[in-house]
Amino acid sequence: MGQKWKLYEVKGGKVRRKNKFCPRCGPGVFMAEHKDRWSCGRCGYTEWKRK
Ligand SMILES: [Zn+2]
Repeated sequence: MGQKWKLYEVKGGKVRRKNKFCPRCGPGVFMAEHKDRWSCGRCGYTEWKRK
């Protein structure tokens, strides 16, 4: 059971799970996070962040 913790990156006491899946490519394809948007490196889909 303790091994599961290694799957997550913990910084500042928070577990980071910020990656989104691409709605076009489907689950399994992560989108890259940029300062003001998310983008898929596979299909080019871009999702702008809201303030
Ligand atoms: Zn995509």
